[in-house]
Amino acid sequence: MILPIYTYDAPVLREQAESVPSMNDEIVALIADMFETIKAARGIGLAANQVGKLHAICLVDLSEVEDDDRRQPLILINPVVVESWGEEVVLEEGCLSLPELREDVRRPEFIAVRFKDARFEDKELEAGGLLARVIQHEVDHLNGIYFTDYLTGFKKTIVKSQLNKIKKGEVETEYPVIVNGEIIPA
Ligand code: ZN
Repeated sequence: MILPIYTYDAPVLREQAESVPSMNDEIVALIADMFETIKAARGIGLAANQVGKLHAICLVDLSEVEDDDRRQPLILINPVVVESWGEEVVLEEGCLSLPELREDVRRPEFIAVRFKDARFEDKELEAGGLLARVIQHEVDHLNGIYFTDYLTGFKKTIVKSQLNKIKKGEVETEYPVIVNGEIIPA
């Protein structure tokens, strides 16, 4: 089932997702729905908060952008970035919860992330480049953080009007969204 995506300024996007204690039917179904949703929205990352569920689960799917079929979508349950290193790099980010908004964000180049996979087995992954970028963005969602929170000064002022437009539902999306508790079809 394709789930509508909550947009700024939904309270669920400011909340801390709860750690998943074990796999159960609800979690399995949620992950399946999140896969359908990320495909439909043509996203590269999706956190459970964005579909209104406060479970610490996110997906990363770079198979389209990196044009590499071997790159399987990644399911991260209870992800924690345990280490980051390298230079801080600037890269433009967007977000399914912030339609029509893209801004440069500075983040560490490399990370190590600990999580449980779809079999609920412990994993640790070292990542760089776009993969590290998307994981950091998604883990932030699970902690109630938007990428726009990192903007300062002039940039922050610029995005403010765009955020207000999103809040009022004055943006177009090609996927269903929830604005002020109301489902807006694609
Ligand atoms: Zn996002």
